[in-house]
Amino acid sequence: MAYESQYDQQAPLMAKYECLLFDVDDTLYPLSSGLSKQCTKNIEEYMIQTLGIEESKVSEVNRVLYKNYGTSMAGLKAIGYDFDNDDYHSYVHGRLPYENLKPDPVLRHLLLSLPIRKVIFSNADKVHVAKVLLKLGLENCFDGIVNFESLNPTNKTTDYDENKDSEILGVDNDCSALPKTPIICKPFPDAFEQAFKTANINPEKTLFFDDSIRNIETGKSVGLHTVLVGTSRRTNSCDYALESIHNIREALPELWDANNKSESIKYSGKVAIETTVTA
Ligand SMILES: [Mg+2]
Repeated sequence: MAYESQYDQQAPLMAKYECLLFDVDDTLYPLSSGLSKQCTKNIEEYMIQTLGIEESKVSEVNRVLYKNYGTSMAGLKAIGYDFDNDDYHSYVHGRLPYENLKPDPVLRHLLLSLPIRKVIFSNADKVHVAKVLLKLGLENCFDGIVNFESLNPTNKTTDYDENKDSEILGVDNDCSALPKTPIICKPFPDAFEQAFKTANINPEKTLFFDDSIRNIETGKSVGLHTVLVGTSRRTNSCDYALESIHNIREALPELWDANNKSESIKYSGKVAIETTVTA
């Protein structure tokens, strides 16, 4: 019995991460790159030029949609705009200042030296994700990618309801009245569930890195261990907070020996547990 009790107490120390799950934008590179700001401008231009939304309303409509639906696209589809997903992505991402992203050999080295499976989890389309990883010199650092296309395998059309958009375009902030979006994206739990299924992820053995507090909050609620990136201020929903992804080694040095420990546990059972405790 004494041994059992010791085992139980020590078990949490043995908890290992089998997977590291990374957002891309503003997580693998800093917000100061200006991509995010330009992306917002492009989305607003798309709303005016392609969807015919009144110029004076776009900023506020976009803000409300982004806030309530996680992405502007999800919000636009929810309120009845029907457009081709690929056209939208090439418009809003096509003219981003990718040249601002420089190869990041420090991050590359950190990622490649981590002995844990690494998976990307982004709301962005595959072309954008691939371009960002290429610009940062991180194209071979990940074992899997969950992107817009993985989350939304069919290019579904919206059930258009003419009454839907009047509430939003009038900038009504009552979330309970909002129509449902056909788009699956963070920060909603169904996106996480789908990512877990697609990439074969056990959330309880996974550390999730994202710059969005909303994504982190959902991540925590679905069982992930969480790291908020871009600030050193921790909140209740994040287990760690990193000013920059470059700080990963200082904040989580145990990740680099996780593999050794998990191998020992896997093959040696209780012996390895005792060894680790005394080490
Ligand atoms: Mg992000």
